[in-house]
Amino acid sequence: MPDRVLRAISYPTIDHRGPEFQELAHTVLARVKTVVKTEQPVVIYPASGTGAWEAALVNTLSPGDRVLMAETGHFASLWREMAERLGLAVEVMPGEWGHGADPGAIGARLAEDKAKEIKAVCIVHNETSTGVTSRMAEIRKAIDGAGHPALFMADTISSLASIDYRQDEWGVDVTVAGSQKGLMLPPGLSFNGVSEKALAASKAARLPKSFWGWEPMLEANRNGMFPYTPATNLLFGLREALVMLLDEEGLDNVFARHDRHAEATRQAVNAWGLEVLCADPREYSSSLTAVKMPAGHDADALRRLILERFDMSLGNGLGKLAGTVFRIGHLGSFNDVTLAGTLSGVEMGLRLAGVPISASGVEAALKSMASAAQPAKAAAE
Ligand SMILES: *Cc1c(COP(=O)(O)O)cnc(C)c1O
Repeated sequence: MPDRVLRAISYPTIDHRGPEFQELAHTVLARVKTVVKTEQPVVIYPASGTGAWEAALVNTLSPGDRVLMAETGHFASLWREMAERLGLAVEVMPGEWGHGADPGAIGARLAEDKAKEIKAVCIVHNETSTGVTSRMAEIRKAIDGAGHPALFMADTISSLASIDYRQDEWGVDVTVAGSQKGLMLPPGLSFNGVSEKALAASKAARLPKSFWGWEPMLEANRNGMFPYTPATNLLFGLREALVMLLDEEGLDNVFARHDRHAEATRQAVNAWGLEVLCADPREYSSSLTAVKMPAGHDADALRRLILERFDMSLGNGLGKLAGTVFRIGHLGSFNDVTLAGTLSGVEMGLRLAGVPISASGVEAALKSMASAAQPAKAAAE
């Protein structure tokens, strides 16, 4: 998180029914659409990402509706469990953790569904537990290829503003996002990008909802208001983060920066002689890299040591990956020097933990960053 964003958040809370707030709301509601790459409304909740998951489902679906969800990792499993608790009939496309959702398998399943019983296809764009980015444009093509009318929903909580994402172009009906990852904010805001088709579906959807209802939200938003108290100070932070992302760096440069850091991280992992969990280079994540721990070594012991010695917190293995994987985050307000520091901490930790490494990953990463193409903006100047 940039200090500038923190400072923006520290501005005194204003009356959320007054004209100064209305201007703030109009600004962030309009500008966040550019990040989601949509012309359609984006709803902002005072909630963590999990709230926006729930909102996506309860606004568009009815009890017993069949939804197709791809098993990509821990976050996809949590979304699935939520859908089951809400009374939806979830059909899971099985998948190996380390792979993204399979467009071919989704297309084939939808083509079989002659009665069009499947009402939604729900995909985690960037699976944060494995460091795998699913190929959303190809999944859209597969849905279209099957001629299937299901809604397409995307969890972009760890991809938005880090990895290219295009709601309108990819025909996504509901985008789910959160504040605390690529948007460089603290936790506490979440988002639903809502297509016209999703809005139409919401008129007939019968799952109970109150706090999450889009309609009162959209109606109040038109006037720069919220139906209940918004997270005013986080919206100050969002306004500042949007200035940095859209006006100063530019989204394409933001994505290119994340791509470079992900590539340098993979170079480091390869030089160490370790293995990246993501099995398909087309699906490498640019926001984080999950690294497999060699047999006989405990990833959580390594993480603990690095936290104690270097005050640096690595992501843990989630769900069935507990103890066997650690995750290096390289998203948000991050530059070459931050990544160099991060990888240095990992390398020192590996040495201290007695994990055998074949060469310096830091050196490989520095070489990669120094030789990688400069961001588009610099190149054009
Ligand atoms: C972080 C994350 C979530 C959970 O969001 P919360 O803000 O913790 O509720 C869900 N999905 C993905 C892909 C995530 O990275």
